[in-house]
Amino acid sequence: MVYDPNNIFAKILRGEIPCDKVYEDDHALAFKDINPQRPVHVLVIPKGEYVSMDDFSHNAADAEIAGMMRAIGHVARELGVADSGYRILANHGSDGNQEVPHFHVHIFGGANCGPMVKRM
Ligand code: 5GP
Repeated sequence: MVYDPNNIFAKILRGEIPCDKVYEDDHALAFKDINPQRPVHVLVIPKGEYVSMDDFSHNAADAEIAGMMRAIGHVARELGVADSGYRILANHGSDGNQEVPHFHVHIFGGANCGPMVKRM
């Protein structure tokens, strides 16, 4: 899948659309989800142009992958959910129900996240 530079998270990265930023470094940006599903619901995105987990895991440099993982852990600690627990989630493609085609990891916390996935 070809990266669409006009997706909403690309616009947030370029500063064309505002976001409620919670963290930023060389590799990642984290901001609150506009439609939170838990008291804590933050999205962590790489600064590079990657469509999804599949693209990122295949094509990102080791430093970008390490940067994303470090950022996710750091943000969770900063949000105060490391002790109480949290869930991270990344949707890829159609069966993953991915809506925004820029790789992102959700951090959910502040309340129990329930079963891992909805039963079929
Ligand atoms: P996906 O289903 O792609 O994993 O999740 C996309 C997430 O992006 C959804 O939870 C949705 O609420 C969030 N989202 C969509 N548009 C915006 C936006 O403009 N700003 C923010 N902060 N979140 C957004």
